[in-house]
Amino acid sequence: MGTSIQNIRGFSDVLPDEGPIWRFVEDTFRHELERYGYAEIRLPIVEKTELFSRSIGEVTDIVEKEMYTFTDRNGDSLTLRPEGTAGCVRAALQRGLLHNARPRLWYAGPMFRHERPQKGRYRQFHQVGAEAFGVSGPELDAELILLSGRILRALGIDGLRLELNNLGTIEARRRYRAALIEHLQAHEGWLDDDARRRLHTNPLRILDTKNPQMAEVIRTAPDLGDYLDETSRQHFHDLRAMLDAAGQPYTANSRLVRGLDYYGGTVFEWISDSLGAQGTVLAGGRYDILVEMMGGRPTPAIGFAAGLERLVALVEAAGSAPAAPSVHAALVAVDEDLQADTVALAESLRDRLPWLRLQLPIGGGSMKSQLRRADRSGAALALIRGAEESAAGEIIIKDLRGDAEQYAVAIERLPEILSPLEST
Ligand code: ATP
Ligand code: MG
Repeated sequence: MGTSIQNIRGFSDVLPDEGPIWRFVEDTFRHELERYGYAEIRLPIVEKTELFSRSIGEVTDIVEKEMYTFTDRNGDSLTLRPEGTAGCVRAALQRGLLHNARPRLWYAGPMFRHERPQKGRYRQFHQVGAEAFGVSGPELDAELILLSGRILRALGIDGLRLELNNLGTIEARRRYRAALIEHLQAHEGWLDDDARRRLHTNPLRILDTKNPQMAEVIRTAPDLGDYLDETSRQHFHDLRAMLDAAGQPYTANSRLVRGLDYYGGTVFEWISDSLGAQGTVLAGGRYDILVEMMGGRPTPAIGFAAGLERLVALVEAAGSAPAAPSVHAALVAVDEDLQADTVALAESLRDRLPWLRLQLPIGGGSMKSQLRRADRSGAALALIRGAEESAAGEIIIKDLRGDAEQYAVAIERLPEILSPLEST
């Protein structure tokens, strides 16, 4: 081995002992999404760069500095997807899913953003996203928010809060933007470099800053709620009434904005206080203009994306994921000469008992070390083949979890001996 093999910063492995938590999180999303009529769509990980730059917005964190963009052998500029909505809308448009239909779609998979790796922020991370098209009323917003709350409850995570806002129409945001710029300019000395740069390009994004030095400037900024148009105000009011009726608590936060340009109207985030600065685990909102922006007919839409790494961390802390199933039994051949015969026996047991999780081979060596490995496999029983028992058509059963004496039985009786393990 000449060169050393190193991992790339921000690209992490999911190790086998974390697998059960990931599976629990993914299965829970799938289960609840399907209960609400969402169908899975599988999307490519690479798209044309302009799909993202045009939909997400040129002056956003993602497009300005986070995209993994490269030129392929044809000279096309391609990008590893930083989020799922743009690709989902592209697919829905290109594949005619929006023709006389109001699809509800969900997807899961890796996303890529070249940001500074830190706790809760990775360069390859995973999202589950849901997108619902064709309904403009607040009842869809309410249902999507309640669905996200149900998923988070099913994950067994406590202490999440729901924050809610309405960003209004483009016109309302334009008027607010002017007032906000005026306020920020009056306090220019407090702005950091990012904020100064964005002052005239994307000032709303400044509200989303995580820089404590700017907390006071943000606190005293004009309130977006005061600038809302009548339709948005009514939509927000109706949505809140629906959440109240369903018993879903929330905090209205007029400082809540989203980092992508296509959002307008309802926006929401589920936030945990136990993850430090990176506390948002699921975020979404309306993007009624995006389909038309991408060349389709005007089609209202709303969606969310959940960050799985952060949810996995919370599920791990809560201990709410079921443990991975261990093998039921380990088959131990004491005598080297019995190996061929033992492989055949294991296969015939797997044929007859389709539920059986059986470990073989357990590795050679002394009986003692084989039993130690059998024990470590988590198996309830060791099935031990010795020369003498084999000659007599028998096998030894040893309970690895209790202190019952081991005993020999006829090999034909194995399915019957193993059957109580089926429910474990
Ligand atoms: P932030 O303000 O934290 O940068 P964002 O607006 O970029 O968030 P979204 O694009 O809305 O985040 O993504 C939705 C969710 O995906 C986030 O709330 C978070 O849980 C997760 N997420 C986003 N970026 C990362 C990342 N680099 N690493 C891990 N999870 C991420
Ligand atoms: Mg970000």
